[in-house]
Amino acid sequence: MKTISRISQFREWRKGISGSVGFVPTMGALHDGHLSLVRKSNEVCKHTVVSIYVNPQQFAAGEDLEHYPRPLEKDLDKLDCFTVDGVFLPNNDNMYPEGFSTKVYEEHLSKVLEGNSRPSFFQGVTTVVAKLFNIVQPSHAFFGEKDAQQLAIIKKMVTELNYPIEIISCPLIREENGLAMSSRNAYLSDDEKKVAAHIYLALQEGKNQLHSGVRDPQIIRNSISKQISAQPLLKIDYVSVADANHLSEITESISGDILVSVAVFLGKTRLIDNFSYSPSSNK
Ligand code: AMP
Repeated sequence: MKTISRISQFREWRKGISGSVGFVPTMGALHDGHLSLVRKSNEVCKHTVVSIYVNPQQFAAGEDLEHYPRPLEKDLDKLDCFTVDGVFLPNNDNMYPEGFSTKVYEEHLSKVLEGNSRPSFFQGVTTVVAKLFNIVQPSHAFFGEKDAQQLAIIKKMVTELNYPIEIISCPLIREENGLAMSSRNAYLSDDEKKVAAHIYLALQEGKNQLHSGVRDPQIIRNSISKQISAQPLLKIDYVSVADANHLSEITESISGDILVSVAVFLGKTRLIDNFSYSPSSNK
């Protein structure tokens, strides 16, 4: 497993690799969610490259850039259990040299949900992912359904900017109590993690209602909101029932595929979770 920080050195190393290359971009503090992407890449591709980079461009002022966990040695140990050919560990000077001013942004999907709450977030994501794609030149890239909106935006970017890369979506991995795995869960105490699991339980309740035939999106939103609000430590940012393709809120009766998603604060920690639902298969 080769670890490389410099872009020029990575490019040289990349020239020596042929066949399919699976790419797993991460911000590190790796957990089983990230590792499921690496496992999938090992299944699908001849080679696997992982990047670990806490991208400052996707953090707004006052967010947790400074405190974001960076346990690099532990991360590398975890990756050692898989077949990882290269780990790309760029630094800010490499990625954004002084005077850097070229941005990649998507104009529609990135305006709602996470984009509404964190206005510069997706521009930071699409810019760094575009750069990483150009540097790594993968044939496949693996993204988690944990960040469903990000996945939709990356898929759109790859199609619209003609990247010859297949985007593979990987299921959301949860803790035993249902809490969606996230590097930010490291900010939570054990007691807080128990409280945070109610986000999942609330979503499950919404899903059960859909399974039993409820089609009024507001009933689903209200039910999820009520359950989350029953936990005094949880503060809702949004509860959304949106069209799965356009991510616009559903106002009429649910008839097509939807994304049900939430963002919730537990103290200063912002947690997101979601599920997809298709009325045609009732799944
Ligand atoms: P991050 O390090 O948070 O930027 O995430 C890197 C990649 O791992 C993204 O594609 C995420 O969607 C994915 N990921 C993070 N958490 C999970 C999870 N619990 N299950 C599946 N994928 C995840």
